[in-house]
Amino acid sequence: MSPNPDLSSRLISVLQRNFPAFGDLWARFPDNLFVIRCEEDGGFTVVAINPAQQKSISLLPRDVVGLSIEQVAPPEYLGGILAHYRECVACKTPLSYEESTSEPSLRTRHWQTLLVPSVDRKGRVAYILGVSRDITAVRATEEALRRANEELEKRVAERTAELEEANARLLEQAIRDGLTGLYNRRHFFALAAREFGLAIRHTRPMSVLMIDLDHFKKINDRFGHAAGDHVLQSLAMQMGSALRQSDLLGRYGGEEFAALLTDTVELEARRIAERLRAEVATAHIHWGEHQLGCTLSLGIAHMDPDRDVSIEALIERADQALLRAKRSGRNRMELSA
Ligand code: GH3
Ligand code: MG
Ligand code: MG
Repeated sequence: MSPNPDLSSRLISVLQRNFPAFGDLWARFPDNLFVIRCEEDGGFTVVAINPAQQKSISLLPRDVVGLSIEQVAPPEYLGGILAHYRECVACKTPLSYEESTSEPSLRTRHWQTLLVPSVDRKGRVAYILGVSRDITAVRATEEALRRANEELEKRVAERTAELEEANARLLEQAIRDGLTGLYNRRHFFALAAREFGLAIRHTRPMSVLMIDLDHFKKINDRFGHAAGDHVLQSLAMQMGSALRQSDLLGRYGGEEFAALLTDTVELEARRIAERLRAEVATAHIHWGEHQLGCTLSLGIAHMDPDRDVSIEALIERADQALLRAKRSGRNRMELSA
């Protein structure tokens, strides 16, 4: 048999009378409070709601007290409410959950609800005390924070990408010559020294070419510095594409270049040097209405582990050979003895 519906409301009135502070607490409590009676037939009846709950549902106690939850709850939320009440009754332990409500033309509100079961002498859950706190503002703050974090992460990622790009550019600038894009002297040396060590360790052949443009000053004098720059760029590109990927080419000085030919025996080095010389000698470089041309002198040195104690020694021999090529009339190559 279900208890008299009025009894519970009267009990709360009695409680309020005998314990005046309770009435005050009930009235002042800022979160929604509601008491639900759990009927033996499985139904749920509203027993009491505090003023905060009245305000939030815009109904007075007399509109809801004594009514079943089916009569009070909006149909779209009824299923969820019943499921939570039933779970609380079955588990006989406090149950906490979040729920959202949205009324037409009102924004969605979020609630943190706690159901506390009251068990009678027979061990049955007879009442549920519900406390529902409006956490809409908390959720809104969390959401704003989440968005701000997302935005921040996006900006950090963009900034990191920009910095990585700038770093890569700086690294390139540090190892390359600005005019021709070839390795600068310092980096050519660093790479060549490593290749030299590898060639010694693995007893692999290696050759070095020192290359100098002939009478280059005349181009500057006659056509201007910009024309000279253009010739340097064109010939650097031409030489670069004439060599293999595994070879190293660097701008050694103003109009001087150095090439390191890996895994290259002397005969092959001579063939490559001759090809470079011939290609450059026949190249026509357009400069306005002019066709500019320039020849190369080359010095070749093939690595001899018994003589060349360092890459510097090998380059020095190639340099001496280049000097002889210059002295012997230019537009030619000389092999280091
Ligand atoms: P040689 O056959 O004896 O090598 O004669 P050369 O005129 O090539 O040699 P020299 O050393 O007398 O002159 C080299 C010239 O290269 C002088 C210098 O102004 C020019 N030069 C060096 N670097 C650059 C550059 O970056 N751009 C231009 N336009 N000219 C440069
Ligand atoms: Mg020169
Ligand atoms: Mg020179």
